[in-house]
Amino acid sequence: MKSIVYFGSAHQARLEGRETLPAKLDLIMERLHLCDRVKGETVAIKMHCGHSIGYSTVHPLFVRRVVNAVKEGGGRPFVTDVGWDVRATEERGYTTETLGCPIYPTSGIDDKYAYIHERPFKNVNTWKVAGMIEDASFLINLAHVKGHPACGFGAAFKNLALGCVTGATRRAIHDTMHFDQYWFGEKCPDLQTRQRIIESCPFGAIVEDKEHPGELHMHFEQCNQCGRCLQVAPEGSLKIDAANFNAFQEACAISVSQSLGTFAPGKATHFSLATHITPVCDCFGFTGMPILPDAGVFGSDDIVAIDQAALDVIGNTRLIEENIPVSMEVHPHEGHPFARLHGPLKDPYKVTEYGEQLGLGTRDYELVDVLPVEQAARPHVTYISAT
Ligand code: SF4
Repeated sequence: MKSIVYFGSAHQARLEGRETLPAKLDLIMERLHLCDRVKGETVAIKMHCGHSIGYSTVHPLFVRRVVNAVKEGGGRPFVTDVGWDVRATEERGYTTETLGCPIYPTSGIDDKYAYIHERPFKNVNTWKVAGMIEDASFLINLAHVKGHPACGFGAAFKNLALGCVTGATRRAIHDTMHFDQYWFGEKCPDLQTRQRIIESCPFGAIVEDKEHPGELHMHFEQCNQCGRCLQVAPEGSLKIDAANFNAFQEACAISVSQSLGTFAPGKATHFSLATHITPVCDCFGFTGMPILPDAGVFGSDDIVAIDQAALDVIGNTRLIEENIPVSMEVHPHEGHPFARLHGPLKDPYKVTEYGEQLGLGTRDYELVDVLPVEQAARPHVTYISAT
């Protein structure tokens, strides 16, 4: 059965507020019956509050509308994000006064408040789900859509996967990319060749391993799979393989299954705002120029469907190449804009595939536009000359 994803386009026909995104978010909340579902619930609104001087996260005006809807419905909302992003969040406009509810760190001020979930996957044995998430009875996943250096794209999955666990689990999720062996030093014993491999990468993705001096270590986030290093590395000494990249996305899906699994059926819903889409995650602490046109706002009870829909809608637009930092390199191959930016092995759809396999939702969805943009049909005119 198809899941419904409600959508409000960033486009508008008229210069009227009701055709803009905050008003469309209201329509989506109505269609999801949010008010009717939160009476008496303790509602965690998980968002990414950004970091340092980043300003492309979900604007407080949108958050406030969600908070108001929860209050109108008789729920007790609080906004929550990981500790280091909640700290000094008032500098980015998120305060109790602006949002209308308190803001709490997901796993306490010392990142110690968590519940242990056992689920072995590569290097991760236990998943520490943040206490403020697991203690809530209803979850609103309020995500910002953007690029991501580890997996090409971050939105609903990413917001929960890395934001509803402690820092230790977050680091372990990133480390899954190193679990499958990619460097075979015995096939490249010459130290000068090793140095040449390091120098071959224009993005600084290959470095000397701190724990094993002389051996090589890959920063997968910085690798766009251009293949330059493979032209230098002796055959079989270095692998640039999908397994390493996919591990991160599978770990993200498992992480979401652990946190989302603590909510009863029907007690979670997801919103994604695809505006000011930056090349990398909001964790970076700054905001560059948008690299894709604004798409709009999405809402669904199905986390798989909402990320799939956002990717599909964005996939029909084009990279704004002139806005991409010159230190990055756009792949010439066909494919999703995020994969062209971060490399073909960072397939942004992988996380929805893994999520579907885990039973978190379906990639088969129906996109319902809550306020389709009317097209203006006008007879041909000849403009009056100014002279
Ligand atoms: S494939 Fe390209 S980006 Fe990746 S490590 Fe090799 S040289 Fe660097």
